[in-house]
Amino acid sequence: MTPTPISKVMVDGREFLIKRDDLYDPYLSGNKFRKLQQLIDIPKETYKQIISYGGTQSNAMLSIAALAKQKGWEFVYYTKKLSSYQKEHVSGNYKYALSFGMQHVEIEHELYRDMIASLRVTQDTESVLVDQGGADVMAAYGLEKLAKELREQLQGSKVTALATPSGTGTTALFLAKAMPEYKLFTTPSVGDKAYLMQQMEALGAIPSNLHILEPSKKYHFAKPYKEFYELYKKLLDESCIEFDLLYAPLLWQELLCQTDEKICYIHSGGLLGNESMLVRYRKLLDRLS
Ligand SMILES: *Cc1c(COP(=O)(O)O)cnc(C)c1O
Repeated sequence: MTPTPISKVMVDGREFLIKRDDLYDPYLSGNKFRKLQQLIDIPKETYKQIISYGGTQSNAMLSIAALAKQKGWEFVYYTKKLSSYQKEHVSGNYKYALSFGMQHVEIEHELYRDMIASLRVTQDTESVLVDQGGADVMAAYGLEKLAKELREQLQGSKVTALATPSGTGTTALFLAKAMPEYKLFTTPSVGDKAYLMQQMEALGAIPSNLHILEPSKKYHFAKPYKEFYELYKKLLDESCIEFDLLYAPLLWQELLCQTDEKICYIHSGGLLGNESMLVRYRKLLDRLS
């Protein structure tokens, strides 16, 4: 694989480098292909089936569906029971994943926890289980590969810090570990800093070069905020690069007001999800205007 390119952009009069992992593949996008790299690189004969679980609009789900299709593997995905509205309005990542052949299994809320726990125990050698959101120690493999690319590409660039947004924190954790000579900035998109640290610690010790920037106010994941849309637009105008609306705006907001290092931002992809978020943003902006 040839390394994804690096773009040089100005935001707020400040220079940033952007590692263009968004350009790898529209479906197997951004940090998900890094987290799944180990499975991408193995021969397709290794497994017949891939199993995962989580939400029905998850970017990880769509990436695994795309990977399974490429490999000719069966993909079984477990979620809690859908609402009747969700069943009637099949859209976004869920629609794409089904079109890639994903087999969706719905589980009653009260049985969900036990069912997911049992997946781990009942696994056979022909199937591989990927934890929710790709939060799996196998991610270390792909992030070490990213580190190797970055180390070569950033030579002579004067960059001293990296930045990438966090959901489960898997990407930030393993990238920080693989590049101890750089600071790594991230923000908690789902829950607060304590919750993010707890998720990271389940995968390994948090290294001292990893800095979690705390937002000045509380944001709810996947809820539209006017300031996030404005930042998304500003980034698009000033850098000519589109960023995702779920994770990127919060990190950019905090980078611009809490840091002054020369930063290389690792684009985490997720652009397909913008389609449905933009519809919701239009409603919000109509209401405000
Ligand atoms: C999944 C995802 C993240 C979060 O990655 P983690 O490794 O779970 O922290 C960030 N940005 C985008 C666009 C994503 O799809």
